[in-house]
Amino acid sequence: MTGIYIHIPFCVKKCAYCSFVSERVSDERKAQYLKRLAEEIRSGLSARPDADTVYIGGGTPSLLSPKELEAALVPVIENVNLFNPEISMEANPESVTRDKINAAKSLGVNRISLGLQSMSDIVLRKSGRIHTKNDFLRAIDAVYDAGIENISADLMLGLPGQDIDGVSSDIAELKSLPIKHLSVYALKVEEGTPMCGNYEPDADLQADMYETVLTALGDEFPRYEVSNFARAGYECRHNIKYWRLDPYFGFGAAAHSLCDNVRYANPDGIDAYMRGEPKASLPIPSGEQKQEFIMLGLRLAAGISVSEYRARYGEGLFSSAHAAGISKHLKTGALLLEGDALRLSSDAFYIMNTVLTDIL
Ligand code: SF4
Repeated sequence: MTGIYIHIPFCVKKCAYCSFVSERVSDERKAQYLKRLAEEIRSGLSARPDADTVYIGGGTPSLLSPKELEAALVPVIENVNLFNPEISMEANPESVTRDKINAAKSLGVNRISLGLQSMSDIVLRKSGRIHTKNDFLRAIDAVYDAGIENISADLMLGLPGQDIDGVSSDIAELKSLPIKHLSVYALKVEEGTPMCGNYEPDADLQADMYETVLTALGDEFPRYEVSNFARAGYECRHNIKYWRLDPYFGFGAAAHSLCDNVRYANPDGIDAYMRGEPKASLPIPSGEQKQEFIMLGLRLAAGISVSEYRARYGEGLFSSAHAAGISKHLKTGALLLEGDALRLSSDAFYIMNTVLTDIL
C-alpha cells in the first residue's frame, strides 16, 4: 500500500545548520502555498489509491493553524482509501499549542514527531534553535493530554557545546517521558548554511555519542534502523516505506514520489512549485533499483528479504552481481543470513559503508 508525504516549507527562523527547503513563515505565503498544495494533491490522487500512512513534514507543520492544517490534510483524506492509517505530523516544540494538537487529533493525526535536538538550552541556543527544554516538555504534555500516545523526538549529535555527558543525561530523561520513538542523527554541516565555515562537528565524538545512545536505549528502545529507535510496535511505518522502496506520493515543494520504479521530484524552489512548474520524472535504471533495495534495506535491523529480491528483480541474490560482496561479508560475520532475511550484524552497523561498498 502507498504512503503519502506532504511538505510544509515554513519556519519561524532558519536554524544555523538547516539545509531543508523552508522559508520564513508569512500568512500570505502560507495561504498561497496551501491553495497550490490542495490542487496538486487532488490531481495527483485522482486514481484514489489505497494508503496506510500519511506524513506531514517540513519545515514546521505545527506553524499551521487548525484551519490551515485542515486545508492541507483534507484533500488527502478525501482522495485516498485509508486503511488503519498511521498519520504523522512533525512539530517544533515552541509552536505546539493545545488547540493545534486537538485539531490535528480530530483530523486523524495519531503520531507526533517533535524536533527536540537537545535537552540543553545552551546547546539549542548555539544551534540557532528557538525552543527551550521547557517548550518541549509543555509540548509533550499537550500531545499526551490530547490522547496521542505515539510520540517521537528527534535528537541531534555533534551540536555546538554538546558533550557525551549531556547526550547521556538527555537519553536518561527522554526514557522517563512518554516517548515511543527516537530519531538520532549526526549533525552534518551543509554548504550554504549559516553554520558552514563557523563550526565543524568532531566525527569521532559523534561516533562516541552514538554508541552512548545505543547503549543507553538498550532493549527498551531497540534500533530498527541506523538512526531510529522505537519501543516495540512503534516503528515509523511511513519511513519504513522509504527504506523498503515501497511506493509513496509526495506533495509540496521539493517532495519526491516513487511509483513503479520511477522517482518524481517536485521543484525545490517554493516559488517554482507555486507557479505550477512540472515535476521531474526520473526512471530508476534496473541496476540502480537493485542497489537501492540492498543499500536502503540493510539500514534496517531486519535487513532485506532474499525472496523479495527475487520476486522484484527476477534473479537470485546469491547469483547476482552482488553475490561476491555478500559472500565475503557472510564469512567475516558482518552479514547474517537468518531464514529469508539478510541483515547486518549489530557490530557491522559501524562499518556499514565499507560493507556496502564491497557489495555494490
Ligand atoms: S525547524 Fe527544521 S526545517 Fe525549520 S529551519 Fe530549523 S531545522 Fe530547518
